[in-house]
Amino acid sequence: MDTKNDFSHLREQMVKTQLISRGIKDKKVLNAISKVPREKFVPPEKQSQAYYDMPLSIGSGQTISQPYIVAYMTELLELKGTGKVLEIGTGSCYQTAILAEIAKEVYSVEIIEKFYREAKKILRNYGNVHIANKNGYYGWKEHAPYERIIATAAPKTIPKPLIGQLSEGGIMVLPVGATGFSQTLYKVTKKNNKITKKAICGVAFVPLKKNI
Ligand code: SAH
Repeated sequence: MDTKNDFSHLREQMVKTQLISRGIKDKKVLNAISKVPREKFVPPEKQSQAYYDMPLSIGSGQTISQPYIVAYMTELLELKGTGKVLEIGTGSCYQTAILAEIAKEVYSVEIIEKFYREAKKILRNYGNVHIANKNGYYGWKEHAPYERIIATAAPKTIPKPLIGQLSEGGIMVLPVGATGFSQTLYKVTKKNNKITKKAICGVAFVPLKKNI
């Protein structure tokens, strides 16, 4: 069977059965996920599982998020195609590619050097992606403020530097809580310099390293 067509068929099925059927509606999100070849972002030996309804190991104790959680978090960001997005935890850089398909500029921060180097290679054709190898707890101050912030590793509490780097009217989506116990996905908004936190649902993410 033609492998390329095989993956695009699996991708189409995933969008229908895992995303649309569970209520993902944002056309920009659905279009981006329909376009980006998820199989290119997982380790070669896991390619056949790329469209499974679950997270997959990418090595170093880290995971690529389940397709649905990528879609859901991206939808919660309410991307308009303008402004800057900051991502904490590049990992496989699949979420980074989805963001880059929709947002104007994407700044992504990864603490593990190997993932940082691979992401730079994989995403070299995206002119709107900027990646740094550093501790995302402190965000990426040089390019702040950001209209949107997303974290895919869970801090114990919302990092103050990230709140500081969120622009007025901005939205931040992130998991918070101790791993192995209960973590909650939050949508944080900033209006008139006031922060509002909305708990969305329970989630399971890897911990944000070196958070204080
Ligand atoms: N969105 C990614 C998620 C990868 S898992 C994907 O779907 O592939 C979380 C990632 O966050 C890992 O790559 C991990 O190394 C990274 N991470 C953990 N703590 C971090 C920190 N303090 N700063 C930046 N990245 C961090």
